[in-house]
Amino acid sequence: MGTDDQFRMTPQREVILEELERVDSHPTADEIYEMVRERLPRISLGTVYRNLETMAERGMIRKLEVAGRKKRFDGRAGEHYHVRCLECGRVGDIDRVRGLDALTRCRKLAGYQIKGYRLEFVGYCPACAGGS
Ligand SMILES: [Zn+2]
Ligand SMILES: [Zn+2]
Repeated sequence: MGTDDQFRMTPQREVILEELERVDSHPTADEIYEMVRERLPRISLGTVYRNLETMAERGMIRKLEVAGRKKRFDGRAGEHYHVRCLECGRVGDIDRVRGLDALTRCRKLAGYQIKGYRLEFVGYCPACAGGS
């Protein structure tokens, strides 16, 4: 997060951030809207969308670029991997694993100025895999 005077932490943004940090489900903008609306009944969907985009640009939250149909957001700003269930679409977190560090390795190999990476695992979540 930079020290940009242009960006103000409005009460709306604070609520959005709090709600997003409370869950690890990587909710869509519509889901976040439903969560936020319980605390700010008069907020509009457009306001939630705009704030999510701005906060993602600022690096306060992450916007997931997963193959799913809807954009999902993440209150956990640090780099980590994601795994998406092929059955129900649920998205989980995977901590960075050493030796699987794509960023460091690719930076050396590609000769590009790499600013980040997107990596997505796919599979079946415990509920969909059916246990045993
Ligand atoms: Zn699933
Ligand atoms: Zn995540």
